[in-house]
Amino acid sequence: MTRSKVNILGIEFDNFTQKEFVCQLIADNRQHLNRFVVTANPEIVLAATRDPHYQQIINHADYVTADGIGIVKGAKILGTPLAERVTGFDTMQALLRSANQNQKKVYFLGGKPAVISALKNVIKEKYPHLIIAGMHDGYFNDEEPIIHEIQQTQPDFVFVALGFPKQDFFIAHHRSVANSIWMGVGGSFDVLIGNVQRAPEFWINHHIEWLFRLIQEPTRFKRMLALPRYLFRVYQQKSKQKK
Ligand code: UDP
Repeated sequence: MTRSKVNILGIEFDNFTQKEFVCQLIADNRQHLNRFVVTANPEIVLAATRDPHYQQIINHADYVTADGIGIVKGAKILGTPLAERVTGFDTMQALLRSANQNQKKVYFLGGKPAVISALKNVIKEKYPHLIIAGMHDGYFNDEEPIIHEIQQTQPDFVFVALGFPKQDFFIAHHRSVANSIWMGVGGSFDVLIGNVQRAPEFWINHHIEWLFRLIQEPTRFKRMLALPRYLFRVYQQKSKQKK
């Protein structure tokens, strides 16, 4: 199957619906395929325009999906619409449900030590049949024992919550040790344990999830300036395309 790609500021996005994407990953896992997933938001796309190596790492991932309405809007502006947003958090949640139903092995890497220890209880309670291959916080000096554990346990899914670009460099560098679905999930563990609240449907449907996040974490203000900057660059790309 050839997949249609949508180029936004140099990043090649896959055009999946959320449901199709989860099915694709579950099918890939059944075949024990090694997969690297990036769910990219405007901040990531902008960062990649400034760092060619990072851009290359992302474009070498097996799947790049539109994490957020900014990417969906950007694709529309460029005249190459994407089906819908396919977020890291929704994808991870769907995979955890499936892993629970099918007793799959999952490795969790990243987040503060307190977050990862709270996560253990949340996973045991919410997904009691899922097998925890291992868990490690994201503040380590030596990655060797972590890689060794992943290699020994050969998990079905490896969720890496180190924030971008760290998580993507980590996956690209180490993915060969296990035929797993490797996915960078940013701050998703904080959301899973209830440390950070996810925007309710209303905010998501009205495309103001970013505002909800800003109210919760005002220190993100500077990071959020990426969104208007990103949109400006998208319009620049559009006007170049016209010429
Ligand atoms: N993090 C980590 N190790 C690091 C730096 C960050 O484990 O060296 C974790 C951090 O604790 C947080 C996540 O990575 O849980 C990044 O969250 P952020 O909200 O920045 O990610 P986003 O969801 O915006 O991509």
